[in-house]
Amino acid sequence: ASLLAPADVSQGKGLFATRSIRKGDTIFVERPVVASQFLWNALYNYKACDHCLRALETAQENAQRLLGRSSQVLPHPEQCSIRKDLHQPCPQCQVTYCSAECRQAAWEQYHQVLCLGPARDDPAHPLNKLQEAWRNMHYPPETSSIMLMARMVATVKQAKDKDRWIKVFSQFCNKTANEEEEIVHKLLGDKFKGQLELLRVLFAEALYDEHLSRWFTPEGFQSLFALVGTNGQGIGTSSLSQWVHACDALELPAAQREQLDAFIDQLYKDIEK
Ligand SMILES: [Zn+2]
Ligand SMILES: [Zn+2]
Repeated sequence: ASLLAPADVSQGKGLFATRSIRKGDTIFVERPVVASQFLWNALYNYKACDHCLRALETAQENAQRLLGRSSQVLPHPEQCSIRKDLHQPCPQCQVTYCSAECRQAAWEQYHQVLCLGPARDDPAHPLNKLQEAWRNMHYPPETSSIMLMARMVATVKQAKDKDRWIKVFSQFCNKTANEEEEIVHKLLGDKFKGQLELLRVLFAEALYDEHLSRWFTPEGFQSLFALVGTNGQGIGTSSLSQWVHACDALELPAAQREQLDAFIDQLYKDIEK
């Protein structure tokens, strides 16, 4: 899940086409303000860069995991874009990044505040308690993550120019209290009031900061929650589908092309089983 500037008219800003657009055209590229892997998705061991969410497993490993078949081999391994030699762990907590650049960017923006160090697997750590509570309220299919909010707070906590970041986050549209409640209700279900309060207490325990005291009040926390609920976007990253795209673009003799296409068709059929 990542937080993007709203691209839908009902959500504040609009995007209008001035030429015809073909299927597959890139029309808009935007870097998320913060991004975070869905928590169940991470618990199920899908490995993604902790900063940009790029897949960390190779296309072949991706296929093996989806098939539950560790012997699966993919042809044209050179078409896989995953570069394991570039992966870098955080030396304190061992979360993994796709590159030194991502490790550095995360460290400079929010990870100094959120790095769990050796407490990474300690269930009593406030950040782990927060994530556990979130998982127990928000089951797959996941549409958001409490860690987006944690990264927003951590970004401001770490920033020298806190006002700049507070301004960045406040440009996401503001809703009335009723509209906010509606969004929280959708995300958390019928018992949302008690759950929101539980999350707020855990959130404050883990991240309270006096510069941001408004975000930790019941009203402010609900607004923050609604902001993430409205502007968050689910994004998918899959090394297998990237490999398939690269294979589609290969120039091959007709017989080989036919064979590769048949292989890929069968692979997808097996995965769907
Ligand atoms: Zn990355
Ligand atoms: Zn760390």
